[in-house]
Amino acid sequence: MPHALVTGANRGIGLEFVRQLLARGERVIATCRHPGRALELTRLAGAHPGHLLVLPLTLPEVRSIAELVREIATLDLHVSLLVNNAGMLVEGERFGSIEAKALADSFATNAQGPFLLAQALAPRFADGVRVVGLTSTLGSISGTDSLYSPSYSISKAALNMASRLLALALKPQRAIVIALCPGWVRTDMGGANAPLSAPESVAAMLRTIDALKVGDSGRFLSERGDEIPW
Ligand code: NDP
Repeated sequence: MPHALVTGANRGIGLEFVRQLLARGERVIATCRHPGRALELTRLAGAHPGHLLVLPLTLPEVRSIAELVREIATLDLHVSLLVNNAGMLVEGERFGSIEAKALADSFATNAQGPFLLAQALAPRFADGVRVVGLTSTLGSISGTDSLYSPSYSISKAALNMASRLLALALKPQRAIVIALCPGWVRTDMGGANAPLSAPESVAAMLRTIDALKVGDSGRFLSERGDEIPW
């Protein structure tokens, strides 16, 4: 049975992906660090019986990834859309006092986690799977002119490379792998001044994802499907 899998699905953009995918009748695996505390996901599971499975996942923990993949295999589910959404941003960084832990944690969550998850899930991918890494224009090497959160920018640039490599690695499965920027979105991470609501951003991203062709694999796109320079 083909499912969409969304990481970091308990709040923000991830939760909105789950809402909109369920609203259009898709079957969804929503992962988060603490399912017992994910009250909105629990409510959605009740409202959409048989369509929403909420499973634990902490990135980039190898054991956590392996347990998730084992559960999906036991249930004989296949993944037709992977939204590597979970991510983190260290606020208030200033060059001169950027900490090793901030760099390491950002890389682990934003680049290592999505890459290892896609690699581990590959045997459960449906033919023609779409793999979407939620990245940022702050991870565009040629486009960056800001020192806002270097840990975040470095880790998202690494995620962008991970997307290119996954596009190559998953070509035999006719996968479409893209790096996708959601725009600047009003969430805990994006803050209150962002121009886009989560529903607006996710609706635009789903339109872009729906329109993807095999030849789009390996591209870096905005939520509206515009090319972003690497
Ligand atoms: P939020 O901060 O609102 O939510 C982040 C989500 O990621 C939460 O569910 C959080 O879980 C989860 N998460 C964080 N670290 C881990 C981890 N180690 N393992 C598992 N889950 C984790 O972010 P947004 O919804 O705004 O962003 C979603 C994605 O979009 C991110 O990748 C972000 O970088 C990207 N993005 C967002 C933009 C914006 O303007 N909002 C702009 C550009 C890109 P928990 O609740 O347990 O902390």
